[in-house]
Amino acid sequence: MLRTKTCGELRIEHVGQTVTLSGWVQRTRDKGAMVWIDLRDRYGITQLILEEGVSDAAHLTLAKSLGREDVIQAEGLVIERSAKNANIPTGEIELKITSLKVMNKAKTPPFTIEDDTDGGDELRMKYRYLDIRRNPVRSALELRHRLSIEIRKYMDALNFLEIETPYLIKSTPEGARDFVVPSRMNPGEFYALPQSPQTFKQLLMVGGIDRYYQIVKCFRDEDLRADRQPEFTQIDCEMAFVERKDILDTFEGLIKHLFKKVLNVELPEFPHMTYADAMQYYGCDKPDLRFDMKFVELNNLVKGKGFPVFDAAELVVGINAQQAASYTRKQLDALTDFVKKPQLGATGLVYLRYNEDSTLKSSVDKFYSPEELQKWATAFNAKPGDLILVLAGGADKTRKALSELRLHLAEELGLRDPKVFKPLWVIDFPLLEYNEDEKRFFAMHHPFTSPHADDVHLMNSDPGKARANAYDMVINGVELGGGSVRIHNRELQKHMFSILGFSDEEAQNQFGFLMNAFEYGAPPHAGLAFGFDRMCAIFSGKDSIRDFIAFPKNNSGRDVMIDSPSFIDQKQLEELSLIVNKK
Ligand code: ASP
Repeated sequence: MLRTKTCGELRIEHVGQTVTLSGWVQRTRDKGAMVWIDLRDRYGITQLILEEGVSDAAHLTLAKSLGREDVIQAEGLVIERSAKNANIPTGEIELKITSLKVMNKAKTPPFTIEDDTDGGDELRMKYRYLDIRRNPVRSALELRHRLSIEIRKYMDALNFLEIETPYLIKSTPEGARDFVVPSRMNPGEFYALPQSPQTFKQLLMVGGIDRYYQIVKCFRDEDLRADRQPEFTQIDCEMAFVERKDILDTFEGLIKHLFKKVLNVELPEFPHMTYADAMQYYGCDKPDLRFDMKFVELNNLVKGKGFPVFDAAELVVGINAQQAASYTRKQLDALTDFVKKPQLGATGLVYLRYNEDSTLKSSVDKFYSPEELQKWATAFNAKPGDLILVLAGGADKTRKALSELRLHLAEELGLRDPKVFKPLWVIDFPLLEYNEDEKRFFAMHHPFTSPHADDVHLMNSDPGKARANAYDMVINGVELGGGSVRIHNRELQKHMFSILGFSDEEAQNQFGFLMNAFEYGAPPHAGLAFGFDRMCAIFSGKDSIRDFIAFPKNNSGRDVMIDSPSFIDQKQLEELSLIVNKK
């Protein structure tokens, strides 16, 4: 071994021992007769000391020549420090060097290897191996590891089998865009990388593996938004002979287990909320429940009083921001600008201030008497000091804008504490979504999702009204995972494809393997998948998933470190039949 201890483990009880450490030079301090070196490895930092007249002269000279990030090996005696550093676990000792060796010199790194680095995003990604030396990235990867271990323990204890499914599969038009891979041996034909192992896990259920999971890479060629990666990791799960309740119980159990083991947080039972309620009361299907501000609809109270904006609106709806009555004119204007930005497109914002002295002041005093405004306040259960904000317009658009305003306000009011966790299940999603451009239905979750038991009859008469037996787990306004009870009957699956606009032939071509399998004794089954990268971010209270991925892509889907994607040469293209050899 090139070391006998790590840079994080020496304590006062090791004083008197001779040890060998290896690591990177964090910094040196040269006071002429004395030189200190902070030596760093994955486990921490240990201070090394050399002294003129005591240390070997050659070692002292060598120590003075060291630069940041040089890799060295140092042998020495553990001694008690005179000036202790309570900020680091090794701060009570230092190592009096008896031997020093440079194992590899380092160029000056392009950014500082500190918790708060001076390196910008792109630079850090280009030199990701240096970035990984920094504590925040390292500890993010440690957390990821810890979670994956605890996931496997929990799943194993419940008899789940971790089974790998293929990465080279078949392209299908449903869902997001596929990444495709040309096949050299089958000219002109392509594999696709899986967007998820969905059909394979269902086939495993037909194969009698009644409990499957996999921590697995998935690939989606989507336009990248801030928090998306073209390749990402899912915890993919499926169970046979179960109903929705069994899935919710099992995986609520998983999440509770992880919170307990990794964060030492006990989560209470997760509430269930229907999709319809989530939309009505929070304007989105992944409500952040760390704070209240539930939507209150005002149509009955406000219409017919001569205020044209409300009279013309399909929906008048508001929220009560508790203790925000002190918002200034300027702050209210900023909120108005927020809801008016093109993405939200509200025409304006109406406020009602419930002053501390119990008087009411609104931006529509001209149209509503104090008695009428008092009724609003009552509808919102408002107290002195509260601020009511109201939007009006088309129902869907207004709910969406109010949902954004709700989150924005909560952020401003400091109500989105990353250390507080509010999980819930959102259930009973719609089965289908109508796409106006393509004039056809799309599956809201995916085409294998079973309709809600009470809505099967709608599959013939009015499929657009059917609810799905689908569920999402949401924590703090983020969708952590989702899944569904599956169709396991060939006829229903075929019917589903026809609703989605597939001809019988297309359905058979693309998903015949699954529908055929359903004819050989497919058990009832259900499952879900969690976004693992996102789970890591949530556990850390972070917004971005990037730091939890060792080698992530940038916002244009590029790996700037290895410079990929990249062009391939003519010969390779010919071999893959992607171009014809003209010679
Ligand atoms: N395969 C689904 C997804 O990737 C999850 C599931 O239904 O299990 O969203």
